[in-house]
Amino acid sequence: MICENLGELKNRVAIAAKRSARNPQDITTVAVTKTATVEMIKQAIDCGIKDIGENRVQDALEKFSALRHTPYAIRIKWHLVGHLQTNKAKDAVEIFDLIHSVDSLRIANEINKQAAKINKVQDILLEVNTSGETTKFGLKPEEVVEVLKKIANLKNISIKGLMTIAPIVDNPEKARPYFRKLRELRDEINRLSSIVPALPAGRHRPSFLSMGMTDDFEVAIEEGATMIRIGRAIFERG
Ligand SMILES: *Cc1c(COP(=O)(O)O)cnc(C)c1O
Repeated sequence: MICENLGELKNRVAIAAKRSARNPQDITTVAVTKTATVEMIKQAIDCGIKDIGENRVQDALEKFSALRHTPYAIRIKWHLVGHLQTNKAKDAVEIFDLIHSVDSLRIANEINKQAAKINKVQDILLEVNTSGETTKFGLKPEEVVEVLKKIANLKNISIKGLMTIAPIVDNPEKARPYFRKLRELRDEINRLSSIVPALPAGRHRPSFLSMGMTDDFEVAIEEGATMIRIGRAIFERG
């Protein structure tokens, strides 16, 4: 079932990419495993998944330990897609290749501190609350440049891009403005990088856009997503 789901997902990604004249290779599928067992994760890896996303550090630790001494471990990258609390930063830095949910200078400072201890440069994305919903985490769009300037000084963090979670809507088209906003924000930052010295290009040049989930990934791809975070369409259908 998981292999079939992944096959179908791959087709839909390819069609959405084609529609927007993009290369499907430029879109990474992060399999979000909050409802999946270790066995299901192994199946997904056997069927081509290379990126595993977790919401909670604690769940990730369990799955990470279950896979760590198996051949699966070397084939995958770990992504934290859910909110990170400062007291979990140490564990997060130990296991995640990419933290998608950095939403304050405070958590960035803590990640930097923990990463320095283990001599790691932690790749992160800045989470942006593009919809302004009060229930959502994320920086306000207008805060992003200021926060980015400050994080750019932290030696053990590398900012790779931006992430957003669109509101739950009945029609995925309604999510489009939020995805578009994230892309425009990234493009704006990159434009500023060439003129604002406090926004160094290179290491902190945001290129990734982590956006799109089971109900809205096609629209996100059309708006430039480079990472889609998919749970249900992989683990719960068929
Ligand atoms: C659960 C979750 C996903 C995956 O959602 P689906 O709708 O199951 O594809 C993606 N991103 C985040 C942050 C999540 O919490």
